[in-house]
Amino acid sequence: MARKIIPDLSGQRFGRYLVLRKDENRCDSRGRHDFYICKCDCGAIRSVKKYDLLCGTSKSCGCATKERIKAADFKHGYSRTRLYHIYQMMKYRCYNPKYSSFKEYGGRGVTVCDEWLSDPMNFIRWALNNGYDDTLSIDRIDVNGNYDPNNCRWATSKAQQRNKRKAFLIVFDGVERSFADVCDENGVSRRNAWQHWMRHKDKTKLVEYIKSHALSAS
Ligand SMILES: [Zn+2]
Repeated sequence: MARKIIPDLSGQRFGRYLVLRKDENRCDSRGRHDFYICKCDCGAIRSVKKYDLLCGTSKSCGCATKERIKAADFKHGYSRTRLYHIYQMMKYRCYNPKYSSFKEYGGRGVTVCDEWLSDPMNFIRWALNNGYDDTLSIDRIDVNGNYDPNNCRWATSKAQQRNKRKAFLIVFDGVERSFADVCDENGVSRRNAWQHWMRHKDKTKLVEYIKSHALSAS
């Protein structure tokens, strides 16, 4: 039986390594423990055991691992911040069916843009450059739109609540308006008015309720 010829690995790529040539100084006569001179994508030159290349044990000079650790540190540094928590919750709402609010978000097709999804730092950078502070919450401008830089802003929770309810419109004095705005302007408790709506599911009655409970019937 002919001896199996092990092809020269020169020119092949293994992870970040591009194999340049055999390392003639470190090859043994039987060719089993050959070493190859490899160039890492970061520019480093290393003599790497053939076996480690073929098995995938060696994929870079070490720079890949260092980068991973650095990224982990970075993430760790942010993992306890409010902003990172907001990021996680946003992802849960859109992608975790076990999460209580999923049906109002992911369940309705709301997504997080690829840029933010792929790296929390992209989200954090956007937040810090766009008016984030620790008293504000992330708010989608169009309640049916996605989480992306064009559809998000930092808002007080009051502004956000109003925006959420904007989906619920009622005709008040002949004009279609947001339920929340109409309640606020008439000094009517939104919570009570909402309970009234839940009991009757009748918009005409709801408007009557708001009018009869308005603070100043001017
Ligand atoms: Zn490298």
